[in-house]
Amino acid sequence: MGGTNLRAAAIDDQGKMLDKIAGETHLKAGREVVIEDMVRSIATLRARLGQHDLAGVGVGVPGFIQIEEGVIIGSNNLPEFEHYPVRNEIEKRLGAKVVLENDANAAALGEKWMGAGREVDDLVLLTLGTGIGGGIIVGGDVLRGQLGMAGELGHMTAVPNGNPCGCGNAGCLEKHASATAISAMAKLIGLGHDLTSEDVYKLAVAGDTRAKAIFRSMGEALGVALADLINIFNFPLYLLSGGPLPAWDFFAPPMLAEVERRSFTYRNAPTRIERATLGNEAGLYGAAYLPFLAK
Ligand SMILES: [Zn+2]
Repeated sequence: MGGTNLRAAAIDDQGKMLDKIAGETHLKAGREVVIEDMVRSIATLRARLGQHDLAGVGVGVPGFIQIEEGVIIGSNNLPEFEHYPVRNEIEKRLGAKVVLENDANAAALGEKWMGAGREVDDLVLLTLGTGIGGGIIVGGDVLRGQLGMAGELGHMTAVPNGNPCGCGNAGCLEKHASATAISAMAKLIGLGHDLTSEDVYKLAVAGDTRAKAIFRSMGEALGVALADLINIFNFPLYLLSGGPLPAWDFFAPPMLAEVERRSFTYRNAPTRIERATLGNEAGLYGAAYLPFLAK
C-alpha cells in the first residue's frame, strides 16, 4: 500500500510470483474504502488460486510500524491511518494472519529473499524516490529498532547545513540525492521546471554539463552517507534502487570516490555497492516473505 498505488501479489514459499493485481490507493475516499480495496484484492487472489495453504498476508506501508500492536504511526502519506489498528482490521475481515512492515524495509527484505541480496544475510537498501527510504537487513531479518524507526536512512545528514527537511533537520540525504532533489536542483539552476530525474538524465546523456553536475552533487551526497553506513555495519552489500538508477554512470563514480576517500572499512573489507534488481516489485516480494519469517 503506497500513497498512490495499491498492489497485491500471490507469491509462494519458493519466491515464485503466481499472480498479481495493481490499482490505485483511493486515499481521498477515506480509510474504509482503502481497507476494503485491500481486502478485496487479496480475496480476489485467494479466489483465483485457492486458499487451502495460505501462509499469511504481509502488508508494506509507508510509515513507522509498531509491530506488536500492528499500528501505523508517523506516515505523512496516510494521515487517516495514524494509530488505526490496521492489522487487526484486515485480519478480522480476511480471517488470515497479517504482518505489517514499513515499505522500504519490505523492499530490502525482498531484495534479500529474491533479488540482488540472495547470496548475503546482511545488507542495506536505499530507495531513491520522492524521499529516500532505507532498509537494513541483519541475519536475514529486518532491523527495526525500538519503535520500528531504525533504517530511516533518508534522514542521515549528508550535507552539514544543507537543504532544510520536513523532519526538522537540514542537509538530510533525501534533500540532496532523491528523485525529488534532482528535480529541485534542476529548477534551482535554471535547467527547467518540473523535470523528472529521467529528464535530467537524458540531458546529461546529451552532454549538458549542468545536468551532469546535478548527478555529481547527488553522487557525493550518497557517497558521504554510504561511507558512514559502511563504517558502522561492515556489511558485504549496499543496494540502491529507484527512478534515478538509470543515471548510475553519472552519479556512481563521484559516489564511489567519496566512499573510497571517507571509509577505512571500505578500503579494507570486500564491500559491494550495487543496483537492486527487483525494481518496484521488491516490496511485494518482501511483504510476501514476512509471514514465512514470522512463523
Ligand atoms: Zn530529514
